[in-house]
Amino acid sequence: MKLLDGKKISEEIKSELAEEVIQLRKSGKRVPHLAAVLVGDDPASAFYVKSKVKSCKQIGFDSTLIQRPTDITQNELLDIINKLNSDETIDGYIVQLPLPKHIDEEAINLAIDHRKDVDGFHPVNFGRMAQGLPAFLPATPYGIIMILDRYGIETSGKRCVVVGRSNIVGMPISILMARSGKVGNSTVIHAHSRTTDTHSEVKRGDIVIVAVGIPHFIKAEHVKEGAVVIDVGINRLEDSSKKKGYRIVGDVDFEGVAPKCSYITPVPGGVGLMTVTALLKNTMLAYKKEIYP
Ligand code: NAD
Repeated sequence: MKLLDGKKISEEIKSELAEEVIQLRKSGKRVPHLAAVLVGDDPASAFYVKSKVKSCKQIGFDSTLIQRPTDITQNELLDIINKLNSDETIDGYIVQLPLPKHIDEEAINLAIDHRKDVDGFHPVNFGRMAQGLPAFLPATPYGIIMILDRYGIETSGKRCVVVGRSNIVGMPISILMARSGKVGNSTVIHAHSRTTDTHSEVKRGDIVIVAVGIPHFIKAEHVKEGAVVIDVGINRLEDSSKKKGYRIVGDVDFEGVAPKCSYITPVPGGVGLMTVTALLKNTMLAYKKEIYP
């Protein structure tokens, strides 16, 4: 079994981006600039946004954090978005989800200029991705693609079982794995909450990508010998031996499954770290106008 080390790949990509920034500065050019909008005081959202801003600083990108209280109105938020859309010094931005209940997430998503949508959530980017056109790929699926690519894992003609169909992970990764491309060309089986027997579908997978949000949903007996397993899940399990009272586990029972795999991502240290890195990659692509010249 080989570990798909998200930390290592993430550091590798970040240092490549940092080197590009050094070259930009040397030639007197401005550097990529990512903005993040954080509404409310949800600790998980604050943690994610701050780690994105911190990663920007690490590699030399400019970053702007716009924080607003939970009671911001939808129109006030739309005003912020309109300003970001027309601000030529901002290459890309994200609006951290979830938003408070009184705000219509879809309306906010649609208001984002798709040319600055570095989260890849706008329907224009999603549609272009599905058609195989240049697009900002959603960060977590893009992170998975980069892991498979950098480890040189053959995906063409392989049976790939995707478990989960969220708009941010399951649905886009199933499209990416099926579409034509260096990483892709798989025969995809897409399991979700209405699948009658998810585990027997998983058992057929040469590649298994799991994004369900159920701790240890996939166990050793569900996985074929030699499979490549990508665990997207980030779940808290109570653990009184830890200072925080919990530990983070994936959707895959790593201890049991790992010995049967050819490759597997750990949690933490796998896909999670790649998500922020993919966002940075998208910001560089936005800066260079590679997706939308
Ligand atoms: P979600 O929580 O929105 O939805 C869960 C999905 O699981 C649904 O699509 C549902 O159809 C499917 N599902 C439920 N029961 C099932 C069953 N028995 N068989 C097959 N499918 C079933 O999904 P999400 O937002 O993609 O999150 C999934 C997990 O991934 C969570 O643990 C989340 O924290 C994690 N996540 C991690 C990252 C990262 O950066 N690594 C990013 C996003 C989400």
